[in-house]
Amino acid sequence: MHCPFCSAVDTKVIDSRLVSEGNHVRRRRECITCEERFTTYESAELVMPRIIKQDGIREPFNEDKLFAGLSKALEKRPVGIEKVEEAVSRIKANLRSTGEREIHSRNVGEQVMKELRELDEVAFVRFASVYRSFKDLNEFREEIDRLSKDTLS
Ligand SMILES: [Zn+2]
Repeated sequence: MHCPFCSAVDTKVIDSRLVSEGNHVRRRRECITCEERFTTYESAELVMPRIIKQDGIREPFNEDKLFAGLSKALEKRPVGIEKVEEAVSRIKANLRSTGEREIHSRNVGEQVMKELRELDEVAFVRFASVYRSFKDLNEFREEIDRLSKDTLS
């Protein structure tokens, strides 16, 4: 952390404590060069990566859209809303844990399919058939093959 007074590269931490119920770390620092003191706060980065769409356009991650997509696939299927919420949470955690600032929508789609596969096969096939475009038909078929193999085994 550069010194905000003289821009020196080296500063040392002279005090460190947890604040706001442990959600932040407050650090008192001292510049080794000019000896000025300053305070920094650290908190976990909970910002979701931005989504890169097929056409290259970036958009903010939209949890409602994700939830709506899963719900749509699970329409009239025997899967409770709490299961959908859990799936959304898992996907969000996965996206965050990549540490990437931008993620391809394809990556999100793959994760949705993985979750749906666990939740309900019909919903999975529904989603996959819409999600996969015609040029990905082979991939789609492979997925279905994999699914039937898993079901049989
Ligand atoms: Zn300094």
